[in-house]
Amino acid sequence: PAALDALAAQFTVLDNPSPASDAKRAELIDKPAFGEVFSDNMARMTWHKEGGWSDRRIEPYAPLQLDPGASVLHYAQEIFEGLKAYRHADGSTWLFRPDANAQRFQDSARRLYLPVLPIDDFLGSVAALVQQDIQWVPGRREYTLYLRPFMFASESFLGVRAPNKVDYCVIASPSGPYFPGEIKPVSIWVETTYFRTGPGGTGFAKCGGNYAASLVGEYRGVEQGCEQVCFVDAATKTYLEELGGMNMMVVHRDGHVETPSLTGNILPGVTRRSLIQLMRDEGRDVVETMIVLDELLEQIASGEVTEVFACGTAAIVTPIGRFKSEDFDVTVGDGAPGKLTMALRNKLLGIQMGEIEDPHDWMWRV
Ligand code: PMP
Repeated sequence: PAALDALAAQFTVLDNPSPASDAKRAELIDKPAFGEVFSDNMARMTWHKEGGWSDRRIEPYAPLQLDPGASVLHYAQEIFEGLKAYRHADGSTWLFRPDANAQRFQDSARRLYLPVLPIDDFLGSVAALVQQDIQWVPGRREYTLYLRPFMFASESFLGVRAPNKVDYCVIASPSGPYFPGEIKPVSIWVETTYFRTGPGGTGFAKCGGNYAASLVGEYRGVEQGCEQVCFVDAATKTYLEELGGMNMMVVHRDGHVETPSLTGNILPGVTRRSLIQLMRDEGRDVVETMIVLDELLEQIASGEVTEVFACGTAAIVTPIGRFKSEDFDVTVGDGAPGKLTMALRNKLLGIQMGEIEDPHDWMWRV
């Protein structure tokens, strides 16, 4: 925390003349949906080719001034991150592995030929914003302050090249569960026509373009009554990759777990990495491998695969109950949440909420 405080102190807090009243804020954070309301302030930094990163500040949340010629509006040079601030029972506020998000933000920047944000600035900007808007962190279980750092090419220039000016912001949104209500398994549309990325593409980077490319598949699934889309590899249409916004894990009858390898096509999820660690801590065999869709369908049908779940910051751990496509419609197990799925969900959420021991020092106090 001492180190985080020092990094946050690099950000100048500008006066906010009209923050939400206590009553208004209490109303907004009581039962928020996901990502609909935003806190009073935002963190900002600017990058110029001459001079690098400057102007670290916390300023009132407001619309951005953007020139219509800004490169991002034409060529989509944009990257982002997603992490949460958690309120513990004693009132303290914590981040989960923000250093991992800072690292991934650098990896994304390199892929998009954007300037690399120093880890300390990522951590400092997030901590400074959370400190300033700490009353926006909800207290109820599974309600958090979702943090969205992002960076984009703001230089007004229509040539296709690396930008000379970039803006970085962090905004914060009090958010409830991604899938509200009782934990019930979601159904997945397996998309084999439209892909979000391909070999040598941007799959491992968290850039807006990947999500733009995922929507056709997502909505083909919605039309079929599915809640999420699952992509297969574009080159061979053989291997399962990930969902539109989550990674995926498969539990076998003998207890071992398989998850798609980091081929460069999928996002290296912080949740994925954390769950692998927690399972290995308990001696469970976890294999990062290429998962063949046809084999998985057979294994689900035969009962060899007993559980499948999705994992990510927003969804935590969410059971998958059904896979559907133009050619098949299969139910996983008895369609109810699996035992390991729920145990992992409770374990991770328990660490994040400070209810159980944090064996790897993943939590950072703000
Ligand atoms: N895959 C995609 C495409 C995602 O958008 C996300 C959410 N960031 C994930 C996986 C899960 O990553 P994480 O566990 O870091 O949230």
